[in-house]
Amino acid sequence: MQIIRFFFALLLLGLLAPAHALTLKPQRVAPGVYAFVGEVGGRTYDNEAMNATTGFVVTTAGVAVIDSGSSYRVGKQIHQAIRRATRQPVKLVINTGGQDHRWLGNSYFVTLGVPIIGHQNMRTDAEERGAQLIQSLQGELKEKLEGTRVVLPTQTFETRHRLRLGKTDFELIFAAPAHTPGDIMVWLPQSRVVFGGDIVVTDRLLGVFPFSSVAGGIASFDAMAALKPARIVPGHGAVCDLAKARRETRDYLVLLRDHMKRAVDAGEDLQTALDTLDQSAYSKLPNFDLLSGGNASRAYLEAEAAAF
Ligand SMILES: [Zn+2]
Repeated sequence: MQIIRFFFALLLLGLLAPAHALTLKPQRVAPGVYAFVGEVGGRTYDNEAMNATTGFVVTTAGVAVIDSGSSYRVGKQIHQAIRRATRQPVKLVINTGGQDHRWLGNSYFVTLGVPIIGHQNMRTDAEERGAQLIQSLQGELKEKLEGTRVVLPTQTFETRHRLRLGKTDFELIFAAPAHTPGDIMVWLPQSRVVFGGDIVVTDRLLGVFPFSSVAGGIASFDAMAALKPARIVPGHGAVCDLAKARRETRDYLVLLRDHMKRAVDAGEDLQTALDTLDQSAYSKLPNFDLLSGGNASRAYLEAEAAAF
């Protein structure tokens, strides 16, 4: 009885975590550069919709957070994980895109009074879709969504934004609307690490959504590859090199683009174009069954629109 009471008390204190609870364990990518590698499946109550890869950079003058997480609560957990890794205070938050996991945690970080930087398109995207993003997480996250609200970047930029924190240089680069209209990459020239945001997706099939651009995704990827990064922190998946990122992101987008352009040029209707597309090279990747059909349809519609 004593033991049962003891475990019950632990449960109440939240000390016994459920099997797949969110764990934000920073992985060191380079000196001062850390990634939080998230799950590659869907958004769940247990993973708190943090099914993405983000990170932070520790400098001699404070910490830059790269993506604030999927909720107020996740933002707070990111901050706690950073505090366990360094005594440096958070000085800056960067939002690399318009998806929930990139910026809903702004509602926590705004309480620190630090600047939040994103692309101008991301700000518009977040403003337009923010309330809807929060609403669609409600069913899954329930009370874990508490405190989450639309907090937009306090600073925006157009193409490139260079900044220096301590002795560390950062380059925020926008190439084209990609997975979301305001996707950027964060380049650290000294360590040759790039945070690709949703421009790079590995270890799972990427999604082409109504707000995505296949052609823009390829252009953004190429801008990222031109940096010749030593290591890539993707937006989803494990830290990787350029060869893997190319195989799982660029090659897939090129397959979609080229097939659908050929189909549209040949006057094929949507169904014929879908039937003749062979995506089997990617069928082993998680989320394939969920996303491959929609990806193909949207790629066709984009090719059709481009042909006019
Ligand atoms: Zn994403």
